[in-house]
Amino acid sequence: MKISVASGKGGTGKTTVATNLAVAIARMGKNVAYLDCDVEEPNGRIFLKPEIRKQIEVTVPLPQVDFSKCTLCGECSAACEYHAIAVLGKTVEVFPSLCHGCGGCSDVCPEDAINEIPRTIGSISCGMGMGVEFLEGRLNVGEAVSPPVTKALKKLVAKPEVVIYDAPPGTSCPVIEAISGTDYVILVTEPTPFGLNDLKLAVGMLRELGLPYGVIINRSDIGDSRTDEYCQREDIEILGKIPYDRRIAESYSRGEMLFGVDSEYERSFRGLYASIVRRIKNDRISYSQR
Ligand code: ADP
Ligand code: MG
Repeated sequence: MKISVASGKGGTGKTTVATNLAVAIARMGKNVAYLDCDVEEPNGRIFLKPEIRKQIEVTVPLPQVDFSKCTLCGECSAACEYHAIAVLGKTVEVFPSLCHGCGGCSDVCPEDAINEIPRTIGSISCGMGMGVEFLEGRLNVGEAVSPPVTKALKKLVAKPEVVIYDAPPGTSCPVIEAISGTDYVILVTEPTPFGLNDLKLAVGMLRELGLPYGVIINRSDIGDSRTDEYCQREDIEILGKIPYDRRIAESYSRGEMLFGVDSEYERSFRGLYASIVRRIKNDRISYSQR
């Protein structure tokens, strides 16, 4: 069972929900993995405090031109959607930070003049923390293309009963890479105009992807009722609400889980897990009856 925690807007509480949900599930005796897919600024490890057992480099293939064969025909540059390779005067320039490592340039080269060499763009750390299998992707500073790190991260997880994906914010490629193939997406939002605007974008993305989802309204008492009204109007399930709680911000700053703040939170996360399981099972039953 794969559950993503995502949001249109940043800072809504994804990591708070993802880490606490993972530990609550582990404390129910289940085998659970937490994947930090927010590879530009992963911070789940602050809360899960894993003992890191393995670190792996993530590489992408980078084109290298053999000028003894190259005729400057420009096929490579025409084929590259990302403008990562260009014929400039009497040379071919490769722009590593734009390259997605797809191999298209070397495939189309009529002279077989392009070789590929691995280039490190990030790393993956694996370990165990608070009874949860922990995997974190980290994009190197200065790199622009994060999906290959997330893709490598998702391939590395063993097959536990439950996997929680802590996604980056937004609705662009890094998010789609993180949430694709998951069974259910929890969208964490806040009831502010900005939060609602970005929630609508995230809902549009999930409808396009055809993934089942529900919403958690965090800091539910600080905004207005427009997020509730939008969810009702659009028939979007509200999975739960978390009030603004200064103790949450304080325990987060200390790198601690919410269970220490109030045992009620652990009960809420167990309830959240149970309702998601019910939804996924119902979806599977109705799908198999079609
Ligand atoms: P994201 O992963 O979406 O960026 P985080 O889980 O890191 O969000 O939370 C962002 C900040 O908001 C943290 O400082 C956290 O303590 C604070 N926060 C999250 N939920 C609440 C809440 N219900 N009450 C008070 N502070 C909260
Ligand atoms: Mg986060």
